[in-house]
Amino acid sequence: MLDAYLAFETGGTKLVAAVADAAGRLIESRVLRRDPCNRAPQTLAALMGAAGQLRVAHEACGAAFKGIGFGYGGQVHRAQQRVLRNLHEDGWEDMDVRDALERVFGLPSVIENDCKLAALAEAHLGAGRGQRTVFYMTIGTGIGGGIVREGSIVDFGDSGEAEIGHLVVMPQDGFVCGCGNRGCLETVASGPGLVNLARKLAQDCPTAWQDSAIARRALHDARFTAADLFEAYAHDDAFAGETVHVAAGFIAQALAGVIQIVNPDAVVIGGGVGTSSERFIRLIAEQTHPLVMPSLRGRCRFVMSQLREQVVTQGAALLAARTFGAGQNF
Ligand SMILES: [Zn+2]
Repeated sequence: MLDAYLAFETGGTKLVAAVADAAGRLIESRVLRRDPCNRAPQTLAALMGAAGQLRVAHEACGAAFKGIGFGYGGQVHRAQQRVLRNLHEDGWEDMDVRDALERVFGLPSVIENDCKLAALAEAHLGAGRGQRTVFYMTIGTGIGGGIVREGSIVDFGDSGEAEIGHLVVMPQDGFVCGCGNRGCLETVASGPGLVNLARKLAQDCPTAWQDSAIARRALHDARFTAADLFEAYAHDDAFAGETVHVAAGFIAQALAGVIQIVNPDAVVIGGGVGTSSERFIRLIAEQTHPLVMPSLRGRCRFVMSQLREQVVTQGAALLAARTFGAGQNF
C-alpha cells in the first residue's frame, strides 16, 4: 500500500480537489469552476464529491489515504482550525469545515490559508527552493502573502500575519478595501486594483492621456481588466507603462517594509497578475531596492512563482504529508 493524501483549494474563482503521493507531490487534480449561485455548503459538497471519486480510483490502484490538506481562500484561525470570512463566497464562516471533511472521508485534516500554502510549496518545490527565508506574495484578484522560514510556515496560531495586501499605501483619498479599511495595497495593485488605478490616472491627467486608446478604455469600458492593461504594457503603450510603474511603486513600498522586518532571501511573486510579466517583477525589484536600508539592499532575490496554477493545492498536499506522514518526507 502506498501512502496518499487528499488536497483541496478554494480560490477566488478556482476550486481544486487533488491526490498527492507519500511525499506530498501532486499526482492528479480536478479543477472545478466556482458557481456564482452557490454558497459555501454547495461548493464544499462539490469539492468533496470530486475528491471522493479521485480517492476511489486511487484506492483501486493500491493507495492508502492518510490525511487531508485544505487550502482556504480567506483567513484561517489556525489554533482552532476554523475558517473565517471569505470575500468571494458567503457561508464559510458558519461551517465547521474540518469536521465536515473528517466525517465524509474518515481522515484527519489540516486547514490553512491559501497564500501560506503557496509560500510552503514555493519554498520546497518552486522558486524559493534552497532559501532559508521565503516571502511569497500573490497578486491576482486580491493580494496576499506568506512567510516560510527553514521549511515551515511562520505561524502565530491565529490569523492575519503577512497580509501584505492590506498595508495602507494610499492614506490620502485611497479606495475603500474589502477589509473595511481605505487605501490598502490591494485597492491599487491587485487585478481590480490596477483597473481602479488606471481610471484614477486617466481622470487625474486628462490632457496627458487624451490621445491614449487604453486610457479611454480604462475610463469608459466596464469590461476593461488588468489583462488588457498588461497586454498594452507588453506592447510598450505609454499609459499602460505609467499605470504599471505606479502600481509597482506601491508594491515596492509594501515589500520594502517586509524586507526591512523579515529580511527574506527570496521574494516569490505569484498570482494571475504577478506572473503576467517578468518585466513587471524586475520593475518591482528596481523600485524596492532603493527603499531598503543600504546594508540589506540588493540581498533579496525577486523571482516569479514556478508552480503557478498548482501552487496552493501543492502546498495543501505538502502540509498534509508533513502533518500526517509517518516518516516526515521533507
Ligand atoms: Zn484592506
